[in-house]
Amino acid sequence: MAGPLDAVVWSIDRHDVITAVGGAWDEFARVNDAPWLSAHSAVGRSLFGFIDGEPTRRAYQRIFASARASGRTLRIPFRCDSPVVRRWMELAIVPFDDATVQFRTALLRSEKRDAVRLLDALESRSSLDASMCSFCLNVRTIAGWVDAEEASRRLQLDVAPRQPQIRHVICPDCSALLAECAADPGARP
Ligand SMILES: [Zn+2]
Repeated sequence: MAGPLDAVVWSIDRHDVITAVGGAWDEFARVNDAPWLSAHSAVGRSLFGFIDGEPTRRAYQRIFASARASGRTLRIPFRCDSPVVRRWMELAIVPFDDATVQFRTALLRSEKRDAVRLLDALESRSSLDASMCSFCLNVRTIAGWVDAEEASRRLQLDVAPRQPQIRHVICPDCSALLAECAADPGARP
């Protein structure tokens, strides 16, 4: 599916510093309620400054190392929802001989839904935490990992005065998938 979120492209040098931002980055930042992530402000900064949560940063470090070592393009599925749209996306990580890496995102499909306040960056937050997977956006509950709508229902967040703070982690399913991807880049050509 073509759309404004297709072909968000950015590049990092061998030290993971962002050297170029193109494509629909500004649109990508806007629909994710992150207008401060403008292309202009991103260049010259470490990519890891834009990745929230230590587990997620470690996962990306392993993936970058694997891509650079193997010279193969890695493709990582991820969700990039706004409060009112579910988006299934794919991140292609393309290494070059000089250890620079280019990233391209593609929107695979999307669906509208009723607003999920948990995902609204403008909501005020309580002192409680909700653990959310950085890749699939599922939330940890006592009933296991469920999507943001189900978690909001179970935790009655739709009627809560404030939303919990989101702590970015990696769920077991995505952790296994990322490990498989980093270990055997040929498995996901
Ligand atoms: Zn996940």
